[in-house]
This record gives sequence, structure tokens and C-alpha cells, in this order.
Amino acid sequence: MSVREKPSPLSLGASPCDAGEVALLTIDLAALARNWKLLAERSAPAECAAVVKADAYGLGLEPVMRALLAAGCRTFFVATAAEGVQARAIARDAVLYMFNGAPPGSGPLLLSHELRPVLNSLDEIAEWAALAPGTPAALHIDTGMSRLGVAPPDAGVAAELARGLSLQLVMSHFVSSQQPENRCNDRQIAQFALARAHFPEVAASFANSSGIFLPHRPHLDLVRPGYALYGGNPTPGKPNPMRPVVKLEARILALREIKPGESVGYDATWTASRPSRLAALGLGYADGLPWGVSSGAGAEPLEALVSGFRCPIVGRVSMDAIVLDLTEAPSFIAQRGDFVEILGETTGVDALAERAGTIGYEILTRLGRRYARRYVGG
Ligand SMILES: *Cc1c(COP(=O)(O)O)cnc(C)c1O
Repeated sequence: MSVREKPSPLSLGASPCDAGEVALLTIDLAALARNWKLLAERSAPAECAAVVKADAYGLGLEPVMRALLAAGCRTFFVATAAEGVQARAIARDAVLYMFNGAPPGSGPLLLSHELRPVLNSLDEIAEWAALAPGTPAALHIDTGMSRLGVAPPDAGVAAELARGLSLQLVMSHFVSSQQPENRCNDRQIAQFALARAHFPEVAASFANSSGIFLPHRPHLDLVRPGYALYGGNPTPGKPNPMRPVVKLEARILALREIKPGESVGYDATWTASRPSRLAALGLGYADGLPWGVSSGAGAEPLEALVSGFRCPIVGRVSMDAIVLDLTEAPSFIAQRGDFVEILGETTGVDALAERAGTIGYEILTRLGRRYARRYVGG
């Protein structure tokens, strides 16, 4: 069934949402697979892995992993052991790494599910080598994040400690790979090259999504994209080479007209200056639409697409609702029950994030659990 078939207001059974839900998140698995292939082609002969931490950036671990497996992806990165266990149930034969390493007590779980820790400190290497000698693992060299990973001067000691393991990967992570001009990239690449010399036999990985597009081509043996797979722009300020994966639509719950001087929403941040035609939509900040896209404060309003017409959000985002101003659009375009596009081809993840004063990563990972979810192209 297609959401484009508008249900008549009386035939409730014809709703595209199973239980008459008012907001619909469509996740295009074919676009996801295309994005992975594009990144893989760009990075070849390096292997293209996929970062699926945080429930595949909020899009659903299982459908996302199945689509990527079908596209040819064989190596996945998650953050936590719990995510690793879930991922192992989906992909019996895949190589699974955990960015958070092997926190104390996680050993039995990691071993029984064949999860490879990305070891993040000298202590952790020593502990894991004692607990799980000979097992495959990765090592993180910290070249600038000051977060996780062994400092480059300790790379030699790390190599000694890791002798008892079967190191499969040495990796590092960019600080500002979305800024190709940033000198930090050059410094990090140089530092990593020195540290890697202690691991001449081990495969190496550096690039996240934006790293894949750096002019340095730091693809090494394996790349680790996340955001770009899900349609985020890895080259901010330039056209997005990725296909949009996520579409968010919400239904019009009510249409109404207000007079000049009447206001909309909490704290009356928007007041009509002319007779205005409004539509209330059934989604709000509890669904992951940031409160920061509320209108007021002079910022450019977010626009939603109503039958092809861009209509601005007016007033504050509430918990379960937003209001659109349809005054500029022809009066026949909208009916109660119609779906309106909030996020998709017109306003992408990056554009929505910019309006909300955040990053697209946060928009994706906060997509709520309340939407009806539909996977297409699988
Ligand atoms: C999240 C993460 C990635 C993926 O980054 P994107 O910018 O989403 O491509 C790669 N490596 C590490 C260490 C990460 O934490």
C-alpha cells in the first residue's frame, strides 16, 4: 500500500498506518544499499565496513544490517556489548567490532558472541590479552580526540602488550574530517603513520564518512562510514553525494482559520498579521522533532511540504503537535488526514539539523519510537 493513496476521511481502514498512527517514518533500504556501494566504490580497494551503533543511527539495527549484508558488507562496528549481541543474532558470520572495547566484566559475553573489542588503553590491552589470549581484537590509537585510544608515544608498548592477542586492525578517528582544509587532518594522518609502523602486519583504518571524501584519500585497508550511509552529507557546504534514506511525514489533524492578532502555540511566539489558514500536524518534540525548530526569534522557519507547497511551521513545537501556516498555498491543497512531508528530499537531515541548531547525527539518533515505521526497497 502506498501513502500516496489518500484515504477518504470516512474509510478509516484505508489508513496507510496500521493503527491510524499520525506520523510515518519511511526508511529506504535501497537508498541505504546504494549509499554503501557508492562509499565502497570510492574507497576501493579498501574494504567498506558499516557503523551501526545506536540502533543504526536510530533507523533500526535489524533491517539496516540485513540490507547492508545483502549489499555485500561483511564488517560492522557497534558501540556497546548489548548492541554487539543484537548484531550477532542478525549476522552469524559477520565480523563485529565494538568501539567501547571490553569494559570490566564484559569478557564472557564478548567471547561467547565472537565480538571483537576495539581496545582503547594500555590497561585494557593487558587485561584482554590475559583474559582472552590469541583472540582477534582491534586497537585504537588516539591521534587527537583525547577520548578513547592509546596515545601515539605508547604505540610501541601497546604492540608489546598486544603480542598475546591476534590483532586484526589498528585504527584512529578524525577530529574534523568534514573540514578538508583543516590542518588537523594532516597532523593526525602523519601521527597515525608513525604509530602504525609498530604494527606492520596489521590492517589499518582511519576514515569515517567524511574521511572517505578527504583529498588525502586516507582509506587504508578499511573505512568505517556511519552517517553517510543514512543519507547525511559527508561534505558539508557541498552538494550531498548520498541518497536520502529517511522520510518523515505527519498527518494533518485539524485545519482552521484565525484572524489577524490571534497567536499560535505556547507563549504566543507567532501572531497572525493577516487572516491565516493553519494546519495542526500530529508530531512534536516527543517524536524527536527538535523544539529548536519552533518559530520566533527571527530564525528562518522550518518548512514542510504540503502537496508540493512549502509551508512554514509557526509557533512553538509542542510535545505532540506542530502548526503550519498554509495561507500562501492554494486552499484546496490540504485536507484533514493528509500526509505532509517534514523530512525527506526537500528538507534533508542536515537542513533540519541546521534549523534546530544541532547536527544531523542527533536528528537521526533521536528519531522517536512513536512513529509508524515503514521499510521500503528491502
Ligand atoms: C561513530 C564512529 C564512526 C562513524 O562516523 P560517521 O561520521 O558517522 O561516519 C567511525 N569511527 C568511530 C570511532 C566512531 O565512533
